[in-house]
Amino acid sequence: MDQSLFIALLNPAVSLILACAFLIVWVRLRRTYVLLIAVCYVAIGCAFLFQGFGFGLGLPTARFVSNICFFAGILLAAIAVLQRRGIAIPGMAFAVSTAAGVIGLAWFMFFEPHFEARVHVVSYSIAAICLIVALRLHRAGRGDFLDETMKWLACLRGITLIGKPFLVSALGSLLELAGTSAESSYWLWTSLTSLIFSLLFALVLFARVASDVIAEISVESRTDALSGLLNRRGFEEGCEAALSGGKLPVCLVLADLDRFKSINDTHGHDSGDAVIRSFGRLTARYAGRNAIAGRIGGEEFAILLPGSTPVAARLLAESLRSALAAGPLEGVPASVGTVTCSFGIGTASGPARLDPLYREADKALLRAKQRGRNCVDTSWGPGSDRPAVLRA
Ligand code: GH3
Ligand code: MG
Ligand code: MG
Repeated sequence: MDQSLFIALLNPAVSLILACAFLIVWVRLRRTYVLLIAVCYVAIGCAFLFQGFGFGLGLPTARFVSNICFFAGILLAAIAVLQRRGIAIPGMAFAVSTAAGVIGLAWFMFFEPHFEARVHVVSYSIAAICLIVALRLHRAGRGDFLDETMKWLACLRGITLIGKPFLVSALGSLLELAGTSAESSYWLWTSLTSLIFSLLFALVLFARVASDVIAEISVESRTDALSGLLNRRGFEEGCEAALSGGKLPVCLVLADLDRFKSINDTHGHDSGDAVIRSFGRLTARYAGRNAIAGRIGGEEFAILLPGSTPVAARLLAESLRSALAAGPLEGVPASVGTVTCSFGIGTASGPARLDPLYREADKALLRAKQRGRNCVDTSWGPGSDRPAVLRA
C-alpha cells in the first residue's frame, strides 16, 4: 500500500476503533466523561478522513472542515478530563482560544491563504486549550498517579503543539518527508504526533476508568446500602486500620434501637427500614469525619472514636440519643411516633483491639437495656478516670 494512503487510513481507523471501545465502556458504565471521549475520537477520526480524502469538498474547504473537527475533538477531550475530576469548565477561556483558532484558520485559508500562518494559529490555539486543562488539573490539587499522568500529558501535548510550527519547518527542509512540500511534511507530523497522543490518551483513560470502577466496587463492598454507613466488614477493616494508628484514648459506642421488632410488627417492615435509614444519617452527622461508623447488625450500630475521651464519647452518644428521641425522623411516617435507642460505651486508655473493646461496650449496652432503654451506659476501662458527674 502507498505510504501516504496507509497513514491517511491509519489515523481515522485508530480513532474510530477507540471511539467504539469507549462507546462500549459507556454503554456499560454510563459515565458522561466516557461518552464525551467516545465522541471526541469520532471527531478526530472525521478530522483525519476529511484531511486525507476531502470527500469532493475541494482542498481548502476539506482542510477547514478537518481542522474544525480537530477543534471539536480537543474541546470534548478537555471537557471530559475536567468533568471527570469535578472541575468547573473554563467556558470563556475555551471559547476565546477556539474562536481565535477558527477565525485565524478561516482568514488564512480563504481570504489571505498562507500555510505557515495557518499552522501557527491552529497549533497555538489548540496548545492553549491543552495548557488551560493542565493548569486547571494542577490547581485542583495533587491527584493519584493517573491524574498526574493526565496533567503531564496535557502539558506535553501543549508544548509539542507550540513547538510544532518550528519542528515542521526544520523537518520539512531536513528530511523531505513524504514528498517535498512543507504542507505534506506538516500533515505527516500532525498525523504521527496525533496518533501517538491519541493512543497515550486512550491508554491513560482506560486505566482511569478501570481504576475508578475498582475503587467504586471496593467502596460498595464496604458500605451498607440501607443506612449509608459502613457495613460490618467495612467497619471492622476501618477499625483495624484506626486502632493500629494508635490514637489514644479510644472509645467504641454501640447503639441498638429499642423495641425495633415492635416497630416492624406494628408499622411494617418498610417503616422499620425508614427508621434505619434515618438513624444512619443521624449517626453519620453526629459522629463526624474522624469517627468510623457502621451498621454492624440488623438494628445495631457502632461508632469507633479514635483519640476521643470517654467523656467526649458519652457526650456524642447522649446527643445522638436525644436527637433521635426528639424526632421527627426524616422519611419516617409520623404514625411511627417516638423512636429510641440504647447506647453502650467501651473505653481503652492504652493500646486496644476491637474484640475486647466490643465486649466492654456490649456489656454496657446490656446494662442500658436493663435500666429501661433510651439511655447511655459506659464500661470504664482499667485506669480510666471516671468523672464523678458520670457515676450514674
Ligand atoms: P431491644 O429493645 O431489646 O433491642 O428489642 P428489639 O425488638 O429491638 O430487638 P430484637 O432483637 O428482638 O429485634 C430486632 C428486630 O430487628 C428483629 C428484626 O426483624 C429487625 N430487623 C433486623 N434487620 C432489619 C432490617 O434490615 N430492616 C427491618 N425493617 N428490620 C430489621
Ligand atoms: Mg439488637
Ligand atoms: Mg433492638
